[in-house]
Amino acid sequence: MNAHSPRVPILTYHALDESGSVVSISPALFRAQMEFLRANGWRALSLDELRASHARGAWEPRTFALTFDDGFTNFFEHAFPVLRECEFTAIVFVIADWVGKTNDWQSQLAWVPRHPLMNWRELRTIADAGIAIGAHTLSHPHLARLSAMDATREIVACKHVIADQIGQDAQAFAYPYGEMSRDAEAIVAQHYRAGFSTQLGFATAQNRASAFARIDTYYLRQPQFFRALASGWLEWYLCARRWARQLRWGKSG
Ligand SMILES: [Zn+2]
Repeated sequence: MNAHSPRVPILTYHALDESGSVVSISPALFRAQMEFLRANGWRALSLDELRASHARGAWEPRTFALTFDDGFTNFFEHAFPVLRECEFTAIVFVIADWVGKTNDWQSQLAWVPRHPLMNWRELRTIADAGIAIGAHTLSHPHLARLSAMDATREIVACKHVIADQIGQDAQAFAYPYGEMSRDAEAIVAQHYRAGFSTQLGFATAQNRASAFARIDTYYLRQPQFFRALASGWLEWYLCARRWARQLRWGKSG
């Protein structure tokens, strides 16, 4: 029997499209990645399972979590069927006031490809099939630039809108642009069971539950890196990428 691991990969995806942008993955590559994990006996964790293992300080081998930021319609078209086939659950983080619209909110970066976002009917369909709907604020702002009152509203009201529309409480929150402040994190800790950052790396028992690290799959596009998910050297690679990223950009969106 394999030993339990003190770390777990939480994968981050955004859009599934052919643009080649840093927030896109081609549907064919996504399918290949999921089929690889399925064929090798990996199991996707629900939020409850992720939290329970975090509380224990160790995860079962070959477990991982899947997260999708922004709630694109191309998730519904391309990822949802693959996840059903592979029997993988996931968390999809939606922007409550932008559901059914396009990802052209005020702070959106010019180079990000524009795509439609899932509507409430589509979100109810995936929720009924076991995909968790998580919160990603009302309007995708830079939380750290908001007043405490506005940040609270963005974080908390989003949860209520999702509960009204889906009939299920959102229990997970992802920080837009990965931008966290101490105040924002405190609000998330008070209202959600888990918060997800864009800190690049495996999630560990040392992570606060309000700030789980994730692995942006942009860094795993090469098949050898994706296949290395279960090996220790991927951690060194991600560590090197993290340093390079900090040196170059300060931080990433
Ligand atoms: Zn986002």
